[in-house]
Amino acid sequence: MRASRLLNRTLFDEPADAELKSHKLLARGGYIRKVGAGLYSYGPLMWRTLRKISAIVREEMDRAGAQEVLLPILQPMEFWEESGRADTYLKAGIMFHLKDRRGVALCLGPTAEEMITDLLRATVDSYKQLPITAYQISNKYRDEFRPRFGLMRGREFIMKDAYSFDADEAGLDASYGAMREAYVRVFQRCGLKFVVVEADSGAIGGSRSEEFMVTAEAGEDALLTCPHCGYGANVERAESVLPAGDSGGAPLPMRNESTPGITTVAALAEFFKLAPSRMVKTVLFEATYKNKVQALAVLIRGDLDAHPVKVQNAAGAIALEMASDDLVRKVTGAEPGYAGPIGLKDTRILADTSVQGMTNFLCGANQSDRHLLDVNWERDLPLPKFAEMRAARAGETCARCQTGQLQGLRGIEVGHVFKLGTKYSDAMKALFTAADGKRRPFVMGCYGIGVSRIAAAAVEQNHDDKGIVWPAALAPYEVVIIPMQMDNPAAVQAAEKLYVELQRAGVEVLLDDRDNRPGPKLKDSELLGFPFRVLCGRSLEQGQVEIERRAGGAKELVPLADAAAWLRKAVGAG
Ligand code: ATP
Ligand code: MG
Repeated sequence: MRASRLLNRTLFDEPADAELKSHKLLARGGYIRKVGAGLYSYGPLMWRTLRKISAIVREEMDRAGAQEVLLPILQPMEFWEESGRADTYLKAGIMFHLKDRRGVALCLGPTAEEMITDLLRATVDSYKQLPITAYQISNKYRDEFRPRFGLMRGREFIMKDAYSFDADEAGLDASYGAMREAYVRVFQRCGLKFVVVEADSGAIGGSRSEEFMVTAEAGEDALLTCPHCGYGANVERAESVLPAGDSGGAPLPMRNESTPGITTVAALAEFFKLAPSRMVKTVLFEATYKNKVQALAVLIRGDLDAHPVKVQNAAGAIALEMASDDLVRKVTGAEPGYAGPIGLKDTRILADTSVQGMTNFLCGANQSDRHLLDVNWERDLPLPKFAEMRAARAGETCARCQTGQLQGLRGIEVGHVFKLGTKYSDAMKALFTAADGKRRPFVMGCYGIGVSRIAAAAVEQNHDDKGIVWPAALAPYEVVIIPMQMDNPAAVQAAEKLYVELQRAGVEVLLDDRDNRPGPKLKDSELLGFPFRVLCGRSLEQGQVEIERRAGGAKELVPLADAAAWLRKAVGAG
C-alpha cells in the first residue's frame, strides 16, 4: 500500500474525552474515528488489524473443531422472553431494543445464546449428532453505562462468541477444555501477556467460568493471584482466609453513645480507641429484583469491605446501586453515617460471614450523631442471614492453599469461558434423544472473545511515549518504507524497488511515498507502530538502508540488495 493513497490521517491532538492510552493512540493514529458515544468508524489500518485478530481466532476455533455460523444481530424479543432473560437485560438497561412497523419487539443482540439454542433445537435430535460447538464473529450491541474507553468498551463492538452443546457434563468438560486450550493459543499468537483467572458468572448464569486477562496497569479488572499455588481470580470472586480480628470478650450491656459528626470507621476508631475489627459496618444499597426494588443493608466487619458483585449474587438481585442519601434517611430515620442493623425500615439485611460470632460490637444507631456499643447477636438483634460478600485483598492468605499471600494485579478481560449447563436448553426446551431413549436438554457452554477489545488491549500493553508498538502478529503492516527525501531519485528508486520486492515476498508493506518532510513521516511511523521501519536516505551512498525495529529501537544497516530477504526473515521470526 502507498501512504499517498491510504485513507488515513494522523492527528496531533488526542480526543478530549480519552482517558486510556490505547484510546488516545488509536484515535491520534487515525485508526478509529468516534461518531457517537461508544461508536467508532474503523479506518483501513484498524480494519486490517481487526481482520488479523479475527483470522487468528477463526483458525484456532476451526482447529478446535468448532463450526462457523452467522446468527442474527436483530433478534426478536420473544426468544429472550422464552429464555427468561428479557427482564434482566431490559431492567439493567444494557440492551438496545426497538419495535418494528408491526409493533413486534426486537433487540440488537448483546450476545446470542437464544439464537444458537434455537438453531440447535431445530437441527439436532440425537445424541449421535453431539458434541457440537458453533461460533460466529460479529458485532454485538450493549448500551454500556460509561462507553468512554475507545474500543475497550464500545456500544457496538466485535465479539467472537462460541457455544458448545453436549449430551452430558463429561462432554461439557471436554468441550470447555478444548475451548480453553484454543483461547490460550489465540492470545499467545496475538503476542499478548495474559493470565487466566476464575470469574463471576454474571447475568449469563452458569456453574464455572474463567476469564482471560491481558495484564495492564490501566486494566479495569482487579485480579488476585497466588504465587504459591497458582490460584488466580477476579476480585469479583477471589477468596482469601478471613484476617483475624480483635476479640470482643464476654457480652456487656448495650450502650447508646453520642458521636457527634463521627461517621467513618477511622474516626470512630479514634474516638472510642476501638479496633475497626470490633465494628459492624452497615452499607446500604438499593437492590433491583425481578419484581421489586428494595433497600438492602449489608453488615460487614469494620476493617473489611463488601464487593458489590458478591453482594448482588448473595442477594439474587438483577442490579445494585449504592443507596442515595435520601434513601438512607428514609430507612434509617437519620443522617447518612449512622446506619445500623437495629430498627431499619423496609430494608432487607444480609450479613457477611466476617461478623458471625462477633461480640460487644459497635454499630450505627439509626439516630443522627449516635452509635451503639457492646451490641450482641440474638440478645440485641436477631441473627441475620449470612453470606460471603467480603472482597479479598492483596496480602491476605490464599484460601486455596492456605499458604501463599495473594498478589494484586490489573487486567483487561479479553476472553471469557463459561459452563452454562442446561439453563438455556431447559428454558427454551432444546432437547435431544439421549442414548437411553429419553429426551434431555443440551448441556451447554459459551465462550466469548472481545475481538475489537484485543486491539485496544494490545495497544494498552504495548506502547511508548512515541506511539503504538504493535505485536508483530497484529500490526496492520509489518514494514514501512520511508524515502527520506522525495526529491532524491536514489532514495525514491531504492524505496520503490524494495517495496516491490517485499510485496513479491509476501511481506505486508506500506510505502510512505507522501511528498512530506522526513520529520512528520518518521513521527507518523512511530505513532502507527509498524514493527519494522526502513529508511532510504544517506546510507544509500554506501548501498545500504537503515532498518529499525519499533520495539526496542535496535537499528541495523543492511545492503539494499539483501534488505528484502532480511526483512522477510525478521518478519517471519516475529
Ligand atoms: P465486561 O465485564 O468488560 O463488561 P462482560 O463480562 O460483560 O465484559 P462478556 O459477556 O463476557 O463480557 O463478553 C465476552 C467478551 O466480549 C469479553 O470478555 C470482552 O472481551 C468483550 N466485551 C464485552 N463487552 C465489551 C464492550 N462493551 N466493548 C468491547 N468488548 C467487549
Ligand atoms: Mg465476561
